[in-house]
Amino acid sequence: MLRSIRYGEADRILHLYTPHHGRISAIAKGARRAGSRFGARLEPFFHIRVVLHEGRGELLTVSGADTVSTHGELRSRAASLEAAARACDAVARLFESSEPHPEVFTLLSNELALLSSVQAVAANGLAFRMKLLLAAGIVPQLGVCAACGENDHLSGFSAAAGGVVCNSCEAAAFPIEHEAYDFLVRALGAPLADAPAASDRALRQAERAIGETAEHHAHVRLRPLLTAASRQIATTP
Ligand SMILES: [Zn+2]
Repeated sequence: MLRSIRYGEADRILHLYTPHHGRISAIAKGARRAGSRFGARLEPFFHIRVVLHEGRGELLTVSGADTVSTHGELRSRAASLEAAARACDAVARLFESSEPHPEVFTLLSNELALLSSVQAVAANGLAFRMKLLLAAGIVPQLGVCAACGENDHLSGFSAAAGGVVCNSCEAAAFPIEHEAYDFLVRALGAPLADAPAASDRALRQAERAIGETAEHHAHVRLRPLLTAASRQIATTP
């Protein structure tokens, strides 16, 4: 469940991400009435199994719901709750159609389970986004210069060029330091639970690379992940 929105007097509109039907919206009629047959099963971040019916309108109608997992522990930590909201928001923005991406469903399930068991950290959130870019087919090129193919002196990042660029091609790029580059490479290769640690400065560069890639190639603006405070520390020389 990506989002659950109050609708009318007693209904809820649900935004769901499914393994085989991509992102879908559905209405759960009477879900907010006391004694509703849905009980408290229609909450954001829940992993649920639903029965849906096609109605006359565009929205599917929910006729039954079972809870697979509530990821309940993440509700006890503000940082995890916020990270879960950002994760669902990024999925909703990058994968808004009904095109199936079962790997995105698995990735989001794993991320919510992880946030439910450990404290949320920015490195994990950025690693999750790198994996989303990979699933969306727009992961930045990291091995060689995206403009000329040079494999040394990689010192910039250009979303327009499609990834890291060398120092002769960095005209439209922003500088990316080795630590940030290394973070992006390792974040992509490691399981979500083993997202590499990095300094705030490197994470800030990584976030910019990911954000500009999503914006340039998917026309999607991702919500900021690093807090204003950590960004301020990172910009202090
Ligand atoms: Zn180059």
